[in-house]
Amino acid sequence: MALSTTNESGAMSKNAERTYIMVKPDGVQRGLVGNIISRFEKRGYQLCGLKMRTASRELLEEHYGDLKSKPFFPGLVNFMMSGPVVSMVWQGKDVVKQGRSMLGETDPLKSKPGSIRGDFCIDMGKNVCHGSDSVDTANEEIKMWFKDDEVMDYKLTAYKDIYE
Ligand code: ADP
Repeated sequence: MALSTTNESGAMSKNAERTYIMVKPDGVQRGLVGNIISRFEKRGYQLCGLKMRTASRELLEEHYGDLKSKPFFPGLVNFMMSGPVVSMVWQGKDVVKQGRSMLGETDPLKSKPGSIRGDFCIDMGKNVCHGSDSVDTANEEIKMWFKDDEVMDYKLTAYKDIYE
């Protein structure tokens, strides 16, 4: 999927980085989808993809492939399959790193108030959201969770009000 190459004023966009953000089954059940979307929207990030699904074991084992040897892996996959998740692609300057910062630490108890996990949860296995940890991982995860034509490439008309 090609990223936008121009911003609203026609200049080359340096701000076309994308990340994969997911509201986990606990976040969906607890009615946190709107709040999480709202935080990214209000920050100025651009929503490029959005869908809800109950993920297959195969997809989750691929998504969490680097954690296969961890003792919590089977429980994590089973939990992630237990209900629908909301998958999102967000775009903007430094969005991968900023997205992780907005989510907080993996352990909610180590997450600062003001972050999603610091505001909404307590236990690691119920930490309500996922965010890609690098630009390369983000690109892989977006490919795993979205078909090419499900990721929108469009000009943000508010671009000039968000970026210098
Ligand atoms: P993050 O989601 O912050 O990138 P990881 O990729 O390390 O963190 O782990 C993926 C998910 O696995 C975490 O979000 C959390 O839900 C779960 N997890 C990680 N470590 C543990 C643990 N020690 N015990 C239980 N669940 C864990």
